[in-house]
Amino acid sequence: DTIGANLDRAVAAWPDREALVDVETGRRWTYAQFAADVDELAYALLASGISRGDRVGIWAVNCPEWVLVQYATARIGAVMVNINPAYRTHEAEYVLNQAGVSLLVASLSHRTSDYRAMVEQVRGRCPRLRETVFIGDPSWEALTARGTPVPFEELSCDDPINIQYTSGTTGFPKGATLSHHNILNNGYFVGESVAYDEQDRICIPVPFYHCFGMVMGNLAATSHGACMVIPARSFDPKATLEAVQRERCTSLYGVPTMFIAELNLPDFASYDLTSLRTGIMAGSPCPVEVMKRVVAEMHMEQVSICYGMTETSPVSLQTRMDDDLEHRTGTVGRVLPHIEVKVVDPVTGVTVPRGDAGELRTRGYSVMLGYWEEPEKTAEAIDAGRWMHTGDLAVMREDGYVEIVGRIKDMIIRGGENIYPREVEEFLHAHPKIADVQVVGVPHERYGEEVLACVIPRDAADPLTLEELRAYCEDQLAHYKVPSRLQILDSFPMTVSGKVRKIELRERYGA
Ligand code: ATP
Ligand code: MG
Repeated sequence: DTIGANLDRAVAAWPDREALVDVETGRRWTYAQFAADVDELAYALLASGISRGDRVGIWAVNCPEWVLVQYATARIGAVMVNINPAYRTHEAEYVLNQAGVSLLVASLSHRTSDYRAMVEQVRGRCPRLRETVFIGDPSWEALTARGTPVPFEELSCDDPINIQYTSGTTGFPKGATLSHHNILNNGYFVGESVAYDEQDRICIPVPFYHCFGMVMGNLAATSHGACMVIPARSFDPKATLEAVQRERCTSLYGVPTMFIAELNLPDFASYDLTSLRTGIMAGSPCPVEVMKRVVAEMHMEQVSICYGMTETSPVSLQTRMDDDLEHRTGTVGRVLPHIEVKVVDPVTGVTVPRGDAGELRTRGYSVMLGYWEEPEKTAEAIDAGRWMHTGDLAVMREDGYVEIVGRIKDMIIRGGENIYPREVEEFLHAHPKIADVQVVGVPHERYGEEVLACVIPRDAADPLTLEELRAYCEDQLAHYKVPSRLQILDSFPMTVSGKVRKIELRERYGA
């Protein structure tokens, strides 16, 4: 099915149910109003000379217009290009040119980002860019007023409709090209796993620019008649909990670091979060201690863990609502319907026995069409058998649940011993002086690599010492896994999707 046809069905089924709420401005849309605004914008894009296959960029923080652009471009078969709101001119120029964006919709400004000034700077170097429209500016009114109703062209569900750049956790982001079929199905099945229906209200503090927000959030919501609640323009723990309380949200999203920030708010206990029943945590591994508090103190008994990557629409593995705590912390669940997964020896490609670690590979409707205009990179990622090589190390248990062991690139090899940073991080998380911790491998003359622990202390006035850290590990971890270096930090370098850029920790503190 196409995203437009799917929205038509939602409007027919739930015309008066709420589709979208913007907490910051108090604006609200029912499904009927939302679809009417989507159509108005779709006509406007057509009147601006945008047709099927043309690229429309969106460089904006979370706001209702972001969602309107998402559905309006899908309506007419234009390819929406998600541009990371944290980008500066150099990166934005790269993406605008790489994807050949002809019309750009951008925020005016947010915090220290002045998008109008940045667009002014790059416009001259982007020959394909014809027009830029700013949200909350007369140019937006001028755009939306431009269209007149016309019949929409018949589209194919295999048309590319979205270029999503990966998080850039391990290097420069790559533009995954996705179809209606890819992301609409994925949103639908992710929503199925947490039993969404028209009663659900989903609080989405994760960026729309990333698949977590726009697929697992927006598409999961509209394909089940649920409501999308936007708590703030960008992640803010207080605004998120306030939105859950005020809008009586039933579901809350986040990467583990966001849940940690919410749980650590000094006034956390004062929020009424009893409306929550479920939510999704994804993107990076969730420490057990955090999961226990999310279930007990945020009332998210049915919280689900997802594993995925931008290139696979994104989700391929997910825990189910009735999985026990052990499966929701130790694993990322089981494979979603209509997707195949296997764990192989990365060198030979031969499937390893259950219980052994290897590279995770996935196949199915969810695998992207390819990296936009990068056939060599596409060929490296997707093999002749259509399997996507994830670059992640995983173990499939006897019962079919999959454990993510880490990224192949993050594995530390110290004197010939393989160390999975995640195992050491899990162990250190229980230390009373540690609020958050990242473990990376840094160069070492004799061992090749050694283990560095980067720690955010609970109390900055009384940080952990290396001696304390090593004493804590003694007798509990094999000697080669015990960090030999410690770096105390007050925050980690992050991607906008909330992931820690280990590559930067290695570069900064590796010397
Ligand atoms: P880049 O590919 O640009 O380096 P990225 O891989 O972080 O960045 P995304 O597509 O946003 O970009 O993230 C996918 C990756 O996130 C997966 O390959 C995996 O390493 C990690 N990941 C996703 N979900 C989980 C999870 N539940 N547990 C552990 N890791 C996860
Ligand atoms: Mg990746």
